[in-house]
Amino acid sequence: IFAAVEMAPRDPILGLNEAFNADARDTKVNLGVGVYFDDNGKIPLLAAVKAAEDMRVKASLPRGYQPIEGNPAYNTAVQNLLFGKDSELLAAGRVITAQAIGGTGALNIGADYLKRLNPDAKVYISNPSWENHRALFEAAGFIVEDYAYYDAATRGVNFAGMKADLNKMTPGSVVLLHACCHNPTGADMSDAQWAEVVGICQERGLVPFLDMAYQGFADGIDADAVAIRAFSASGLQFFASSSFSKNFSLYGERVGALSVVTASKEESARVMSQVKRVIRTNYSNPPIHGGALVAAVLASTELRAQWEAELAGMRDRIRAMRGGLVDAIKATGCAQDFSFVTQQRGMFSYTGLTAAQVERMKEEFGIYAVSTGRICLAALNSKNIDYVAKAVAAVTK
Ligand code: PMP
Repeated sequence: IFAAVEMAPRDPILGLNEAFNADARDTKVNLGVGVYFDDNGKIPLLAAVKAAEDMRVKASLPRGYQPIEGNPAYNTAVQNLLFGKDSELLAAGRVITAQAIGGTGALNIGADYLKRLNPDAKVYISNPSWENHRALFEAAGFIVEDYAYYDAATRGVNFAGMKADLNKMTPGSVVLLHACCHNPTGADMSDAQWAEVVGICQERGLVPFLDMAYQGFADGIDADAVAIRAFSASGLQFFASSSFSKNFSLYGERVGALSVVTASKEESARVMSQVKRVIRTNYSNPPIHGGALVAAVLASTELRAQWEAELAGMRDRIRAMRGGLVDAIKATGCAQDFSFVTQQRGMFSYTGLTAAQVERMKEEFGIYAVSTGRICLAALNSKNIDYVAKAVAAVTK
């Protein structure tokens, strides 16, 4: 039965990890993966998470099934973070939230549900986008197209191009938007631009799907929710996927959520019943542990304050690495100005390095980046930043 099976293409980023692991140079640096490392190059276990975990371990709780939509305390905590605890939508019962297997799982449930709801809709993602966006929506059976987003000349958002593309979409089209910290470019829209996007979605009857994988990594928890809040104020119905992989450093625990904003409490009940059907036939109900940790941290005044401080620490360190990289490249005497790196937000920078330059970084320096020139700033630290800066200067000469 498998004789004719073809080899599937390798995941470009995971493939990079394999090559990195096989590299014997002790100066090697992996700027490819989208993971936050601390200054010692380690994935942090947040103290707030550890405290919540210690309490859970001590309590020795039974491991019954969760409800299909997951832990209610967790789902409420997600809603408060995304929409704000004083949100009118929440008070009106217009938001449903289901715990999901990471942000990826949330996108997957959302895509499967949308396919049942509106099978002929087209799905649009930004050009460029996180690679898995296209794959996820295509796997759900949709035709996926791009809308203009990144402007290589300004290293910002090609907002005129984006608006022109949004204005061409037919009603009912699904528009996937990065709520903050755009992956891979680090180029985000301004508040005023978000307001315009909301207006176009409203005028054209588009279905917004906001993907929020990095809340708190740009400016702060509420500041980074600007897009969710702008869509919430518009009265539109929309989807939002979210993830605690990055901001709780819980990658492998797979903790995310799908939220859907509906027109009324009564509509919410019907939509939730359908989302639950999608989950039930997929993995039945989500795992307990990661969601319970997040719920415990967010329910405790002390642990929440500790988490916010730790999150701010991660955000500040990434920002320091942005500034540090720009300065270190400048200090090499490099003619090219990289100051745009400090304007980009979140974990990534589109450096403008060509595929050939990225290849030289790998061959000559053992520094691994995505061939598009995307680097993860959170993989830089006080020990490797000068080495990376020298390599960038060398390959751009
Ligand atoms: N959306 C975007 C834009 C991402 O960058 C990521 C993670 N790289 C995800 C979703 C998925 O997050 P998770 O790891 O929680 O599945």
